[in-house]
Amino acid sequence: MDLIDTHCHIDVEDFDADRAVVLDRCRRLGIRRLIVPAVIARTWRNLLDLCHREPGLLPALGLHPVYIDQHSDADLAALPSWVARECPVAIGEIGLDYFVNDLNRDRQQQVFEAQLIVARDAGLPVVLHVRKAHDQVLATLKRIKVRGGFAHAFNGSLQQAEQYIDLGFKLGFGGMLTFERSNKLRSLAKALPLEALVLETDAPDMTVVAHRGERNSPEYLPDCLRALADLRGEDPGVIAAATTQNAEAVLGLASAL
Ligand SMILES: [Zn+2]
Repeated sequence: MDLIDTHCHIDVEDFDADRAVVLDRCRRLGIRRLIVPAVIARTWRNLLDLCHREPGLLPALGLHPVYIDQHSDADLAALPSWVARECPVAIGEIGLDYFVNDLNRDRQQQVFEAQLIVARDAGLPVVLHVRKAHDQVLATLKRIKVRGGFAHAFNGSLQQAEQYIDLGFKLGFGGMLTFERSNKLRSLAKALPLEALVLETDAPDMTVVAHRGERNSPEYLPDCLRALADLRGEDPGVIAAATTQNAEAVLGLASAL
């Protein structure tokens, strides 16, 4: 098995005590590569150092919409030179969050668009964080055309999913699939073409049902794989190979095997 966790915050302090052990267990489970998206500029250096140190960790650099109040114009202005110097695999995580109240939407839009332009100019894919704002994000992506990317923890409609797919995006599904009450999400993951899907954990957030109430971990990615395979009535090996290939296609990477 060769799996990619397309969204994992393994750099955060929740993993400081046992990060190496977690990553070792991941590798033994066949999870050889993890995309590590950034959230604020202050953590970029640490995230990049970690990704250089640990094989299989792929950095994305960007400014997360939920932390909009923490991003300065200087952070935004610095992004292109960081990208040129550090060669991240993607720009992220970026997007719009209309779910959390009190996040300035104009400022989110401004920061999102500026980062899309950085991605476009660098020829990089993007890692999207979108809540309750899919139509706004889709309209923006139609104006500022990037190479595609990942719609992380996708939670929109089938019609919105199809628009992302047309724009070169893969849709990320993770731990929520393992909860039987996630009816809408589960039927979406069943209805979408396999070519459009990638797996993610979003660790340490959003855990799987078997580890409810605990820290989420990239080593639970096989739970997400099994849930997706069960839903679709397909062989886990087939789903693993396809989702890995899908992620590689977005990143422009060769297979790890
Ligand atoms: Zn995230």
